Parts: sequence; C-alpha cells; structure tokens
Amino acid sequence: MEVTTATTIDATTTSMLEAATTFAELGLAPPILAALDELGYQTPTPIQKQAIPLVLAGRDLMAQAQTGTGKTAAFALPLLQKMIPHANTSASPARHPVRALVLAPTRELALQVHDSVLAYRKHLSLRSSVVFGGVDMKPQEAELRAGVEILVATPGRLLDHAGSRVAQLAQVQFLVLDEADRMLDMGFLPDLKRILNLLPSQRQTLLFSATFDDSIVGLARSFLRNPLKVEVARRNTAAETVEQVMHKVREDDKLDALVRVVNARDIAQALVFTRTKICADKLGRRLQKRGVPTAIIHGDKAQLERLAALDGFKQGKVRLLVATDIAARGIDIAELPCVFNYELPYSPEDYVHRIGRTGRAGASGLAVSLVAPDEERLLAGIERFIKREFTAAPLPTLAPPAPVVTEVADATSAAVSAPAARGRRRGEPVCALLLPPVRPAEAPASPIPTDSP
Ligand code: AMP
Repeated sequence: MEVTTATTIDATTTSMLEAATTFAELGLAPPILAALDELGYQTPTPIQKQAIPLVLAGRDLMAQAQTGTGKTAAFALPLLQKMIPHANTSASPARHPVRALVLAPTRELALQVHDSVLAYRKHLSLRSSVVFGGVDMKPQEAELRAGVEILVATPGRLLDHAGSRVAQLAQVQFLVLDEADRMLDMGFLPDLKRILNLLPSQRQTLLFSATFDDSIVGLARSFLRNPLKVEVARRNTAAETVEQVMHKVREDDKLDALVRVVNARDIAQALVFTRTKICADKLGRRLQKRGVPTAIIHGDKAQLERLAALDGFKQGKVRLLVATDIAARGIDIAELPCVFNYELPYSPEDYVHRIGRTGRAGASGLAVSLVAPDEERLLAGIERFIKREFTAAPLPTLAPPAPVVTEVADATSAAVSAPAARGRRRGEPVCALLLPPVRPAEAPASPIPTDSP
C-alpha cells in the first residue's frame, strides 16, 4: 500500500468550497436533492460543503469532524451519487454487490448511519443494510444474500459474515471509516486490517475522526492514497448555538434540582449525563420511582436494552435518558433540546462532546450543568478548555409548574408509593411530588428569581 501523508487543502480552496450555499450547487442529483428537501435540510454544513465536491472528484479524504457536524451526509450523499449509474430494480443478488462499505465502531452509530442512508437513498434504486453484533445473524444474512450496494457494519460482525462468505467484499469501490479514532480506541485495528485485505486495492477511502493523533495518521498512511485533509471547527468553538447554564447545587440536592429545571423550563426530553454506570443506575432508578419516564444507557447494559432505551427515547416514550459518556458518544437524536450534566465529566473534551448532543446543525440547544462543591476543579478545567467562565445561575422558580409526568404507567405507580410518605394523597397528581420542597436550610425567604438565564 502506498505510503502518503495527508495534504491539507489550502485556505483559498477551502473558501471556494465553502462558498456553496445549496446542495444543488454542490452538484447533487435531483433524487438526492428531493430526499434532502423532505428531510428539511436547507443548507449544507461546513463539512458537507468541503467534503462533497472532493468525494465526487474521487479523492481519498481524512476528515476531522465529529458526530453532530453533518458528517454522515458529507460522505453518504456523494457516495450515493457516484453509485447512481449502478441503480437498478433487478431481483438478482448479482446485480446488487456491496459497492460502499461503511465501518463504524458501535452498533448505535452503525444504526444511525444506516438510518441516514435510508433517508438519503429514498428515491434511488439502491439497496442498503446494516450489520452489527449482539443480535441474531440470520436476518442479516438474508439481507446480505439478497444483495445490497451500501453496507454499514461494525468490524467484528462484518468479519463473521465475510468468514461465512455471506458478505462478499470483492466489488467494494468505496470504504468509509467512521469515528476512526474510536475504532482504534476500542481495539479494532487487527479487525480493520483483516477487512482491508478482503477489499480491492483500487478504491476510494474516506476516514472520519474527531481527533487526529499519530495513530490515526498511521492508519491513514496505510489505508488511504494521497488523501486530502479537511477539518471543521472543533466543537469547543462551534457550540455557540448551545445555551450553557450552570447551577451550583449540593450533591444531595441534585435530583431535586434536575426535576426543578425540567419542570420550570418545560423540557420535553433531555439526555442526562453521569460519570459512572453506578450513578447512572442510581439516578435512573430514583427518577423512575418519582414516575418520570426514564431509561438508562451504559456499557453494562445488554444490546437489546440499549436499543430499547434509545428507541423509547426517539419515540418520545422516554423523557429522560440517563447515560454515561461512552454510551452516549455517537448517539444522534435529531433536535435534542437539552442535555444535563448531572455530574461534570473528568475530561473537558467530554463536556464538549456532551453539549454537542444538542444544538446540532445550527439548531439551538440548552446544556445545564449541576455542579456540586467538590466538582469546582472540574468546572475550572472546563472553563479553561472552552475559554469561557460560567456564572452560577439561581435555580428557576417553579411557577407555573409544568408536570414532568401527566400519566403514570401501572408498573411505575407502585414505585411511586415511597414519596407518598411525604404526604401525597390518593388521586393527587404525581407531578406534585416532582416539585419537592427546597431543604429548609437553603429555602430562600422570597421566591426564586424567574429571570435566570
Ligand atoms: P451527523 O453529524 O451526521 O451525525 O448529523 C447530525 C444531525 O444533523 C443529524 O440529525 C442529521 O440529520 C442533521 N443534519 C445533517 N446535515 C444537515 C443539514 N445540512 N441541515 C440540517 N440538518 C442536518
């Protein structure tokens, strides 16, 4: 394989590429433009403006962009366009070989990427499928046998299918390594090398990664040909669309503070971050006991549980999704209005990743951090990293109270009986319990100001 280093595109080329203001100007075909129109995408994001023309021109790319920047469309749209000449409605599997292979580190990311591909290819006679571990192989095998042009896969499961010759990769023309840094972090390098050996050497390869350290550059050296390097603003500069609010709260009062903010701001759904799995479990259980539709997602949860949690959240059945950093990376929930830092992360970069879950693709978002006294040092680290100082905002007032829960499912009503000891009468809405009194020691004499940011 050719040994090359990436060429960073110069400022003039970048500004030329960024001059495009519509997807049509990027040269995309009408069926793709129609799909984007239906999705409500109006203008390409910076990574899309830069990457789409270069991919269409056949270049290998090293793209520095995280989830939330629109990176999936940045590679999926031009690849779909390049495959249009192969679009066909034949039932013969031979007419639908795998032409584009997208590798992703986690099942969640693979599913999200595939959801996007499905939406983008809606008006094209091209097939796609997604395969990942932890679930039955048979339905995946049936789809692969029928033939798919675009295959999204996690590395391990792809090798299983390739080993049994169900996945045939000899006609792959395009390879995408999505979240390459995470694939390396998760120890996938040997799997990636095995997969590479199954692919034709004549192909176009696109590598997407949030970070570009030496290991990524090494990966690019062996897998890419004369790549161009494109980057979009790091999230710590791109987070202007996110309103960041900080409340100083004693550790024991965090749960009440969380519920109070959710109520006062009438937050329909939020992702709530904890540092540890133990805290995620504990917080999730306590919220469930209060009758708040809550799901928990972390690395120890079984695949099916994680998928069910995400699904419930996407369908709006789950109001608060409690997650650890690792579990949440790569989760893409369109228009997520709010994230909570129930506990600040140890690494300031994780703070930036967390708040990047909201305010995506230009939408406005809210990030609320609940900071206990022993987290001050973590806060200072974040402030240095994002070059911004927080002023502690008072907790919002509760009037008019917007209930977190309007209905309590039977399964949760038993669990709600614990707070009843505080005086809930039968028939009284559970939401009353979601507005617990502030501890006497801290209860302000006058109402809490309503003009908090
Ligand atoms: P990604 O970085 O690919 O995970 O995309 C983040 C989110 O932005 C997804 O929900 C996409 O559907 C959405 N998105 C991507 N590109 C655009 C765009 N040009 N306009 C509006 N939304 C977009």
